[in-house]
Amino acid sequence: MDKDMRKHATMATQTIPKITLNNGVTIPQLGFGTLSVPPDRTPSDENTAKTAEIVGLALELGYRHLDTAQMYGNERGVGQGIAASGIPRAELYVTSKLGNGNHRPDDVRRSFDETMQKLGLDYLDLFLVHWPLPTLYGGDFVSTWKAMTGLLADGRLRSVGVSNFQPSHLKRIIDETGITPAVNQIEVHPGFNNEASRNASASYGIAVEAWSPLGQGKVLEDAVIGALAARKRKTTAQVILRWHIRHGHIVFPKSMQGERMEENLDLFDFELSSDEVASIDALDKGEAGRIGPNPDTFDWVPSNATPTPKVRP
Ligand code: NAD
Repeated sequence: MDKDMRKHATMATQTIPKITLNNGVTIPQLGFGTLSVPPDRTPSDENTAKTAEIVGLALELGYRHLDTAQMYGNERGVGQGIAASGIPRAELYVTSKLGNGNHRPDDVRRSFDETMQKLGLDYLDLFLVHWPLPTLYGGDFVSTWKAMTGLLADGRLRSVGVSNFQPSHLKRIIDETGITPAVNQIEVHPGFNNEASRNASASYGIAVEAWSPLGQGKVLEDAVIGALAARKRKTTAQVILRWHIRHGHIVFPKSMQGERMEENLDLFDFELSSDEVASIDALDKGEAGRIGPNPDTFDWVPSNATPTPKVRP
């Protein structure tokens, strides 16, 4: 990276706002998603090297917040990318998520150790229950949540949260344990506002992380957003990401192309008015706009014998 690019990357890092979570810890509002980095999840040396390369590029360009998961099969590559970057640990924010096969309390603790070993980190910033799986494990995601919160005690985990939790799931874990998650990572993009889960999260003081913020690329062709982007002299992706930022969502778009990765960092030299935000809000299609699985019924557990679902969790 030449001197100008390094300066640009430093500026990108510095302009990313920080959100304070309900436990006082701060998180960069914009990060880098690693689902399907690379597209093949088989944990081979080749795939690990590819992940490390892409994560290394993201860090070089200025990203400091990385989102991975046990089920992405790429924690080792994410860890190698971090190690090779030489960036001080304190400057990074790293999230992983509990695999759907690891909900039993003993498996929560064992698999957290594996995650730490794969990532090669002394501590993790955020660990999430990836899916509530209310139709599996006897419907007992409360024991899973208790085991997750227990991980905070030994100092290797800074914050604990959930993902894909519907309002009823949030209510149940909070009522039964008295412990409120720091974040709820849920599907949100233009076309699927996921208002009930966002509102429930906000009412408990839980920060919303919007997964698939670009609708996995499917909302980039929208004419309303396209016209708005043309007026702003920004790209459709940038306008959508700015809309998320205006709503206070934490986002981590994913791309494996350097130019798009840079584009997705370059969000802070323009504004959207309240009317412009409302025009994107109005694109909501309710449940019909959902791209991923419905958390109330999603029951996929990875195993060597089970193929990856069509829409990736
Ligand atoms: P996304 O909304 O980030 O979209 C990714 C797609 O958009 C890719 O095909 C990419 O090529 C394209 N894209 C990215 N930037 C672009 C640009 N500037 N211009 C044009 N195209 C662009 O989808 P995602 O990867 O599903 O979501 C982001 C992250 O959210 C994931 O990587 C993962 O970390 C997380 N996630 C979490 C869950 C969960 O269940 N908790 C589920 C899905 C994703």
